[in-house]
Amino acid sequence: MADRSALQTLAPEITDQIERLDLRHDIPLVVVDVDEVLALFVEGFGRFVASHGLEMRLQRFALFQNLYRPGESAPITLEEGRALFDAYFALDRHDLDATPGAAAALSEIARVARIVILTNAPAASRDARERWLDDHGLAYDLVIGAGPKGAPVAAMAERSRAGVAFVDDLLVNLDSVAEAAPSVRRFQMVADVRLRAMAPTAPERHTRIDDWAKLAPAITASIGR
Ligand SMILES: [Mg+2]
Repeated sequence: MADRSALQTLAPEITDQIERLDLRHDIPLVVVDVDEVLALFVEGFGRFVASHGLEMRLQRFALFQNLYRPGESAPITLEEGRALFDAYFALDRHDLDATPGAAAALSEIARVARIVILTNAPAASRDARERWLDDHGLAYDLVIGAGPKGAPVAAMAERSRAGVAFVDDLLVNLDSVAEAAPSVRRFQMVADVRLRAMAPTAPERHTRIDDWAKLAPAITASIGR
C-alpha cells in the first residue's frame, strides 16, 4: 500500500480530482488510460494533421517525429508538433475512433470494479474529453493528469484495500506505477495495430495484452473477481 507521500508529490489540481472520486476500500479499482488504450489517438491525430497539410509517416513509436511536410525528409520541429497537439486538444470535439471492444470490456469490468480514467491531456480539454468518452459508451470518472502516472495511481490505490489494476500504452507510465505503487497490477495495451511492433515493451515487468477481449478477463482475474 502506498503511503500519504504519493498525494504530496502531486499538483493540487490533480490531488483535488482524486480526492473528489467516490472510491471505496472494499471495491477493486481499475485505472485506465485513454490514448492508444480506449481511443485510437494516433490515427485520429493523423487525420487532424492531414487537414493542416502534413503527412504522418509512422516509423517510430513517437508522435511529432512522424509528422512531415509533403516531400520533406526531416520531420517537423518539436515546437511545431507541440503547437499542433495543443490546437488539437483545444477543439470542442475530438475525431477519434474508440478502440474495438473497449466499451464492452469496461462495462464488463465495471460490474466488479470501480473504473477511473486517467489521461494526460491539457486541463482545458476536460469538456471535450468527457464528451468523447460519453459519446463512445465510456462515461466513467475522469482524472486529467500530467507527467508520469505513478503518483496519481498510488494516491488512488491507497484508498482501496481491494485489488487495483492499471492499463497504459507507455512504459514510462507503467514503470512509474511499478515504482510508486508496486502492488498495483500493470497491463500494457497498444491499441493501434500499426504501433504494436514499434512500442517498447517489457513483458517481464508488465503484462502485455493488445486485445480488449483478452485484456478484460485478465484484469478481472488480477483483482481477484
Ligand atoms: Mg496513452
